[in-house]
Amino acid sequence: MVKICCIGAGYVGGPTMAVIALKCPSVEVVVVDISVPRINAWNSDHLPIYEPGLDEVVQQCRGRNLFFSTNVEKHVSEADIIFVSVNTPTKTRGLGAGKAADLTYWESAARMIADVAKSDKIVVEKSTVPVKTAEAIEKILTHNSKGINYQILSNPEFLAEGTAIQDLLNPDRVLIGGRETPDGQKAIKALKDVYAQWVPEERIITTNLWSAELSKLAANAFLAQRISSVNAMSALCEATGADVSEVSYAIGKDSRIGPKFLNASVGFGGSCFQKDILNLVYICECNGLSEVACYWKQVIKVNDYQKSRFVNRVVSSMFNTVSGKKIAIFGFAFKKDTGDTRETPAIDVCKGLLGDKASLSIYDPQVTEDQIQRDLSMGKFDWDHPIHLQPVSPTSIKQVSVVWDPYQAARDAHGLCILTEWDEFKRLDYEKIYESMRKPAFVFDGRNVVDAEKLRELGFIVYSIGKPLDP
Ligand code: NAD
Repeated sequence: MVKICCIGAGYVGGPTMAVIALKCPSVEVVVVDISVPRINAWNSDHLPIYEPGLDEVVQQCRGRNLFFSTNVEKHVSEADIIFVSVNTPTKTRGLGAGKAADLTYWESAARMIADVAKSDKIVVEKSTVPVKTAEAIEKILTHNSKGINYQILSNPEFLAEGTAIQDLLNPDRVLIGGRETPDGQKAIKALKDVYAQWVPEERIITTNLWSAELSKLAANAFLAQRISSVNAMSALCEATGADVSEVSYAIGKDSRIGPKFLNASVGFGGSCFQKDILNLVYICECNGLSEVACYWKQVIKVNDYQKSRFVNRVVSSMFNTVSGKKIAIFGFAFKKDTGDTRETPAIDVCKGLLGDKASLSIYDPQVTEDQIQRDLSMGKFDWDHPIHLQPVSPTSIKQVSVVWDPYQAARDAHGLCILTEWDEFKRLDYEKIYESMRKPAFVFDGRNVVDAEKLRELGFIVYSIGKPLDP
């Protein structure tokens, strides 16, 4: 029986291994983590992450061929294939601070593998890492090898939070990069055999190590660039009377462009897009490619601009001040169908409104009060000038309440901002909401989810991203 161990039971490690266990009943999969609460949650009825379809997959496999454990060393030493899916955040200090990937967790995982391994291992990079990371990992492992053969593969993950299980069950592609040596090719085949249990052969792409590592950064950079491109257009639409949905539809009909990922919004978030572009920028700079670095930096600058543009629109529409006004915030997660708030645009929007002394009443179906208080209390790291900015002051934090009912959030509010595209926001009783709000009642739709015309008929003043303004 092939034994797989995955180091890191997070948003990637947990769902990815659950699907491997589901599709490969003859493989034993153990997901290990140093975080005791996380592993306890994976072993409970309340999984540590919300992801549609995940509970069902875990329930089917847990205890059969899927296990979650904090006994990291034992399971690593017993495994044939070790996936490493630890976090690779942006460095906050030292060389490359604000841009480079922090590989501390990766390095300690690699050193631990070297310490406990007693047999040959295939070590798979599942985390998103800078191109050439495999070279560093090889050095750590081979200098401590004790005669053990290590093969490093790059197998970046392309799942999107909110649709992770569907993405894993039916991936556009699985990418495996490895060495061109006979041992490297043997390792590629071993991993390919795992995915081949459910992924059609033509969707399994094999490349050299560096192409695989770079492809993941490139994919995220292209996706984020597409969002910034449409968001840049949304600003121009508002200035000219064009409608960004009509523009997106028109350009998406071009088969070279395609219709997906062309929705204007308050900005992209999540733990990956900004971090991976910054990482790309750093790699370009290290390779003397400053013009290329500038190009990618602009994707993040437009994203920051979109968030501040939204805040300015809210404040200027509400007679140039939100001081002392209650604003309801619908949605805090960085996208629908996840409870993940890492780098969510809601953080910057809320901070911007609190900076103008608004009081906020926040509702999100999957995000807890603790998460929101923590996110808003943290200082923001300025990637362009690596210094810590001031967090929201304790006084401002008192201006935030988190509620479990959207109608309660909107009651007596002067304005309502929609920051996440949860489907339920389309179905709310906006007549009831309008009646309960202060007048004039404003809606600022940062995701273009509500029917602006219908809301206007009810009496709301509506701003939708990239759409002609209220007459
Ligand atoms: P995460 O923070 O949710 O999970 C990482 C886990 O690794 C944590 O639970 C942490 O405790 C654990 N960990 C860290 N060091 C460890 C060690 N030495 N031993 C055991 N456990 C250790 O992160 P994530 O969102 O799952 O992302 C993991 C990687 O996958 C990142 O590189 C990310 O860029 C990449 N990725 C993320 C997504 C996504 O949508 N979240 C998608 C594709 C790729």
